Amino acid sequence: MAINTLNNIENSMYRTAFKLQSVQTLCQLDLIDSSLIEQVFLHGSFWEARESSLSVHQLLQALQELFQRTKEGKSGEVNPRASELILSLLQMMYDSTGTGFLKILPVAAALIVLSGDSPLTKYRALFQLYAENNKGNYDSGARMTRKTLRNLLKDLQQIPTIVGESRTLCPVESAVRSCFKGALSQGIKEEKFLSWIQSEPLILLWLPTCHRLSATEMVTHPVRCSVCRTFPIVGLRYRCLKCLNFDICQVCFLSGLHSKSHQKSHPVIEHCVQMSATENTKLLLRMLRPALAPAERKEIINIKERNDQLEEEEIQELLSKLMDAFNLEKPSGPQSSVNKDLYGGAERVCKAFSALVDKITLPNLK
Ligand SMILES: [Zn+2]
Ligand SMILES: [Zn+2]
Repeated sequence: MAINTLNNIENSMYRTAFKLQSVQTLCQLDLIDSSLIEQVFLHGSFWEARESSLSVHQLLQALQELFQRTKEGKSGEVNPRASELILSLLQMMYDSTGTGFLKILPVAAALIVLSGDSPLTKYRALFQLYAENNKGNYDSGARMTRKTLRNLLKDLQQIPTIVGESRTLCPVESAVRSCFKGALSQGIKEEKFLSWIQSEPLILLWLPTCHRLSATEMVTHPVRCSVCRTFPIVGLRYRCLKCLNFDICQVCFLSGLHSKSHQKSHPVIEHCVQMSATENTKLLLRMLRPALAPAERKEIINIKERNDQLEEEEIQELLSKLMDAFNLEKPSGPQSSVNKDLYGGAERVCKAFSALVDKITLPNLK
């Protein structure tokens, strides 16, 4: 997505995540992993001096070494200007007054956060980096205190500022309180820190969101966007729970675009992965049942997925028939008898369909 499009995203969390993901790709930080960052920035004497600062020149050298080493492991596509780009971003984050010196700790943390690792690997690395009493090498005596967590969160809050997003989304103090809720000692162990941060606290929600966006970037859904008519939908797919058969692509959804029938207030669900026909049917049933026959409502749970191609095709065909039938709106107010007949016909088709799906899916229920 172009930067202009990104600015149209209404939800600030997604906007931040999309922008940071673009920065990550642009600077090729997605090629780097945190173990390499640790090797370059926190080896030997650097580890002892991790509370101290690096000059801009030293930092540039370290960044160049980082990319040099990355190049060795991968087929060389590294942008020669990547390290300069990152250097200027790091200066924006941690040397806004232009002293020419940057602290190692926040620099390493920002690089880890923007690296290509999974969120869990990043969280672990951040704990190891900031924890007190840490002798290195994943020492079990390491503890995160309120003070060190505060520092970590303040340092990480600088990251969204490079893409022009506010860092006051959530106050640091309330995040620290939520992490230390129920903690009996001054410092918490890695386990407690991880369980808190994996619950996706608001203050860092952009981090897992960013990861989700990268993971779904290449996912295609074989459906058409009901708003802009794009086919297929690539990336995140949104499905309205109120409108029938209404899919929205991520650009339309996040920009708040909607159509005449579908309103922004409607509940939607977000799909990161492609859904199978069975899952589609399951979802459809959940939507239709209350409207169809409340008395016969049965909760369909745990429909076992069968890799029976024929069955899937059958369901798909039935589904499209049902869609056609359901394109009719329920008549309200005075109606001609023709409309009533049509609606009645559609309703019968739906009931027949529902019964048929039961026949197909119920034997699969445990
Ligand atoms: Zn669209
Ligand atoms: Zn809708």
